[in-house]
Amino acid sequence: MDRVFNFAAGPSTMPEEALRTAAQEMLCYGSSGMSVMEMSHRSKMYSEIFDETVALTRELMHIPDSYAVLWLQGGATGQFAAIPLNLMGENGSADYIDSGNFAHIAMNEAKKYGRVRCAASSREENYRRIPEWKQADFDPNAKYVYITTNNTIFGTRYASLPETGNVPLVADMSSNILSEVYDVNRFGVIYAGAQKNIGPAGVTLVIVRKDLLGHASPICPKVLDWTEMTEKDSMLNTPPTYAIYMAGLCMKWLKKQGGVEGIEKINIEKSKLLYDLLDESAFYIPKAEPTSRSRMNVTFTTPDPDTDALFVKEAAAKGLVNLKGHRMTGGIRASIYNAMPVEGVQALVRFMKEFETEHK
Ligand SMILES: *Cc1c(COP(=O)(O)O)cnc(C)c1O
Repeated sequence: MDRVFNFAAGPSTMPEEALRTAAQEMLCYGSSGMSVMEMSHRSKMYSEIFDETVALTRELMHIPDSYAVLWLQGGATGQFAAIPLNLMGENGSADYIDSGNFAHIAMNEAKKYGRVRCAASSREENYRRIPEWKQADFDPNAKYVYITTNNTIFGTRYASLPETGNVPLVADMSSNILSEVYDVNRFGVIYAGAQKNIGPAGVTLVIVRKDLLGHASPICPKVLDWTEMTEKDSMLNTPPTYAIYMAGLCMKWLKKQGGVEGIEKINIEKSKLLYDLLDESAFYIPKAEPTSRSRMNVTFTTPDPDTDALFVKEAAAKGLVNLKGHRMTGGIRASIYNAMPVEGVQALVRFMKEFETEHK
């Protein structure tokens, strides 16, 4: 059977080249006589795979030496707890920008471990846009300011970042890491679950400025303690070895696309194909406000929910799968991460035009 164009929000489509290499190496990696899955995480051969993946991450994101790069477990959701547990300190407080469901969940999780202020929210507007903030909304004594750079469910993205002065900016980049150039120096912490734009599910990338280490709460579980994990090079316990190897293969592919700089141009082009169509059409209704539009998750509806369902069904019959919107929002969502080829978006655009002609 042919491969489909998979528009799933996560786990999501991966570069075919990475999958092919993994298939080739499945039974025997190099001269090891075994699969990467079967290797000790402390073996020389696996250490090379691990170190190479860290080096690629540093290279692609231009991560300075003053930041630690960690590969952890527990997903982005684990980090919702890890962040306050590592940064809040005793009696500290943090500012959150509530820009979507994951931001909201992260904010509520942090309330278990410290004082949390909601500095800005677009919840009342169904998260159709990134909330506006004023400098005065932020507490200059906060331990950190928390944002979600791309809101996967609603299809919104920060077009600019808040200026937080000396207060570290913490960013959940789960759904747009490696898709556009960010200056890592602007952040205290960047983290992302891998299953959207890094590789397979099972590993979480955490990039933390080293001066923020050393303040974990005494109740912080060891596996979420960034300081311990930095000291042990992410190997306090067995890391998700295969997921890290796969992430490395995906990054090798990304490097060949011109790195993050190269893929950003392609991502702008890909998302523009869809937004241009949405803007020209009197049939499709884009969900996110134009100034907040995501390049990774494009959300829209047809005139009614029954037609949305028909759209999803007919698209799937043409090999364009997983276009159903999140259960919170309904409608349609096309997730077009790095690994979605331009051809996939072009095929979707063709289908959308045909569907509109037939159903308007
Ligand atoms: C998917 C997602 C999460 C949740 O990730 P898990 O790895 O399932 O915990 C959190 N934040 C954002 C922005 C996401 O897209």
